[in-house]
Amino acid sequence: MGVRVSLVGSTGSIGTQTLDVLEKVNAQDPGAYEVAAIGAYRSVTQLAEQARRCRPERVAIGDASLAAELEDAVPTGTEVLAGEGALAEIAKGSDVVVNAVVGFAGLPVTVAALRSGSRLALANKESLVAGGPVVQKAMGVNGAHIVPVDSEHCAVHQCLRSGLGEREVARIVLTASGGPFRGRNSDDLEGVSVNDALTHPTWNMGPKITIDSSTLMNKGLEVIEAHELFGIDYDRIEVVVHPQSIVHSMVEFVDGATIAQLSYPDMRLPIGYAIGYPARVPVPFGALDWTKLSSLDFGVPDRSVFRCLDLAYTAGRTGGSAPAWLNAANEVAVEAFLGGEIPWKSIASVVEKVLESHEQTDMSLPEEVVEADHEARSRAVAVLNQFRP
Ligand code: MG
Repeated sequence: MGVRVSLVGSTGSIGTQTLDVLEKVNAQDPGAYEVAAIGAYRSVTQLAEQARRCRPERVAIGDASLAAELEDAVPTGTEVLAGEGALAEIAKGSDVVVNAVVGFAGLPVTVAALRSGSRLALANKESLVAGGPVVQKAMGVNGAHIVPVDSEHCAVHQCLRSGLGEREVARIVLTASGGPFRGRNSDDLEGVSVNDALTHPTWNMGPKITIDSSTLMNKGLEVIEAHELFGIDYDRIEVVVHPQSIVHSMVEFVDGATIAQLSYPDMRLPIGYAIGYPARVPVPFGALDWTKLSSLDFGVPDRSVFRCLDLAYTAGRTGGSAPAWLNAANEVAVEAFLGGEIPWKSIASVVEKVLESHEQTDMSLPEEVVEADHEARSRAVAVLNQFRP
């Protein structure tokens, strides 16, 4: 029997690429992987189409009003789950759970997967950033562990496999493409449009993460993610701008050696890595062509223009509920920007204002994380009014 995979958030960018990886690997190695369950929040047509193609035992839809439509469209015998909790439900009972949900909504999936002792192939960084203390506790369950799908952390995970322990790590260096606004100054960015911000130079991703990439909040969240995943303190996590997105991140060891992971930007590599770990999947994704690759450039991020990066460091260092507030405020601000309600430059300002009013609360239960998220969201909504043009 193959490795059983549950894929939550199957209709998004990471979700569809995961199905592609599984198909290609199974073509090489028939029966290696079995899609046990897939789920999405509301893309019912696409979800049903995926179910007909990969024949999972269970299909889940988050929006309960779409349950009947899904029932009618999936093959006979497929179990349909619907409503709040359905996505977390299919995260139980598989060998590998891919969490490809977008945003804070991914928290129940992360917690359910770890509590059931599965490997979590984590693409949903927000659940780890916001729910750090809860996720750390859930990782204590026997068999539970995280293999990151986020390309930078997947790179670090690979660099750390050179067999050395945490004490030998001098620092983690996360690379950032710099996004569509790299090199621009503050005045330049006054009136940038949603489309400008959605045009990423190297990666083709969903809208939320693409905006986060344009503000460098994505890198800020990744700094917190790296701290949570690898237990390295913030003073030893650095960010370097690398516009080609070939070096996906690096680890420097105490003897001065730096180990990096290189490949063309193709998310199917980290997806395959996380699913296949500790083995490597037999299909190459993003392998380099050294006759075409001529240069790799590096530079420091402009922290005065891309203020979200330092806001994230501050929230990470504060710890407790601060990263949850950072994440919630950012999700509200990004949605408002995408809806044309606030200018791009106000995203950082909204997050900053919300963090200024941050109150530390207990974060040992998932409900407490959700409460902190709600509180920060309501403050962010109130703050938005100050930034509407
Ligand atoms: Mg990333």
